[in-house]
Amino acid sequence: MEIAESALASIEDSQTSVHAFTHVDRERALIAAAAVDAKRKAGHTMGALAGVPVAVKDVLCTKDMPTTCASNMLRDFRPPYDATVIEKLRIADAVIVGKTNMDEFAMGASTETSAFGVTRNPWDTTRIPGGSSGGAAACVAARSVPLSIGTDTGGSIRQPAALCGVTGLKPTYGRVSRYGLVAFASSLDQVGPIAWTVEEVALLLRVIAGFEPRDSTSLDLEVPDYHAVLQSNDLRGIKIGVLRDALDNDGIDESIRNAVIASVDVFRSAGAEIVDVNLPHSEYCVPTYYVIAPSEASSNLSRYDGAHYGHRAEQLDPDKAEQLGPLVATYCRSRAEGFGSEVKRRIMVGTYALSEGYADQYYNQALKVRRLIKEDYDAAFTQADLLLGPVTPSPAFGLGEKIDDPIQMYLCDLFTVGANLAGIPALSLPAGLDADGLPLAIQLQAPVLEESRLLFAGAAFQSATDHHKLRPEKKIGS
Ligand code: GLN
Repeated sequence: MEIAESALASIEDSQTSVHAFTHVDRERALIAAAAVDAKRKAGHTMGALAGVPVAVKDVLCTKDMPTTCASNMLRDFRPPYDATVIEKLRIADAVIVGKTNMDEFAMGASTETSAFGVTRNPWDTTRIPGGSSGGAAACVAARSVPLSIGTDTGGSIRQPAALCGVTGLKPTYGRVSRYGLVAFASSLDQVGPIAWTVEEVALLLRVIAGFEPRDSTSLDLEVPDYHAVLQSNDLRGIKIGVLRDALDNDGIDESIRNAVIASVDVFRSAGAEIVDVNLPHSEYCVPTYYVIAPSEASSNLSRYDGAHYGHRAEQLDPDKAEQLGPLVATYCRSRAEGFGSEVKRRIMVGTYALSEGYADQYYNQALKVRRLIKEDYDAAFTQADLLLGPVTPSPAFGLGEKIDDPIQMYLCDLFTVGANLAGIPALSLPAGLDADGLPLAIQLQAPVLEESRLLFAGAAFQSATDHHKLRPEKKIGS
């Protein structure tokens, strides 16, 4: 109870300045915490997260809380069921404190496309926290909760974790069930943990990972004890490939490049062998992603028409109703009112890329390039066990700075979308602060299902550095 109270107090304290949550459920959190206390008192075996406050991105269905995807389309949506990840958290005795803010339908890199207002970076509240899981990263960075759940379709766990100075993992595609996750781009979406340390990420991953027959892409494989591999910090025998092209990229800030270079020394000192590696098709990652993801989104979001799901327009334009018929006019008006402009842009781009006459030129072409990108990774992993590079091209930028320039916003995903296109796991680790006191980060990527290897190297990095211990607390006054 005390822990829950203190998390809720911290959330309330920072909600005005940071605004990490779309919904805080004080009452249910306290009931859950009391139940954990009672269970402990009764001498029962406790779950792995007994009493730990966890925040969940508002894109996962929760039967006792709203699930809005930060969209007016789902403003009033209360799912009749829990996502598998939520069920697993409850079984582990976690205390779910609320739902976190995000870019609308997880489309964005700054949490500015939320219909419920922006989230601010706890390190500097004039800056974005990253996105789309901006609220999930910000509430962990603000030290309100130790753990949160995000989703990553093109970087949405790793990029906000990087910009907020916390640790985030995108697991292998299929490692964590997506049952009850509102779909954005189904061949890329993955649920994963955000926390202060690699150790906590490992703990949370163990709880949420695993097979779920109701998700056809879920992998029917045993979940390893991710914690067990964290015992040693000796990286001898591990080969780390430094992504040279990424470091030489013109778009990358000097501070980020330096953070990656400094981390190379840390890994070398821990015993790792360092080699240079390249992903020759990496320049095509962003264009490929921005054809495939909107295409899948245009299909997934067709269900929000005011009849099957979501906001229904109350007033129809009589001329339109006459011209299109009342049903189609309702679809059109409801979608026009319910979706924000970035979501509309994705639907239009995706519909175009899939349309007859253009699908070969865009969607099918993107699938072929996706294969080449995947093959680059396969080749790189014959030369190295892990790949090391940046997460983002720059530290957190100012609120409003890129929101009117979609291309600039999409370029934030330069170094993250590759892992989604290839389906591999990737980890974002805090790597110090820049001259303005903003968090810097590095990224490790591993072959499919090698989360243990990622966590092992990540934990070795954190045992040799103090970056993950830095806190922004003074700036948010708590
Ligand atoms: N920034 C990317 C996009 O806008 C990634 C989002 C995500 O991973 N959900 O699509």
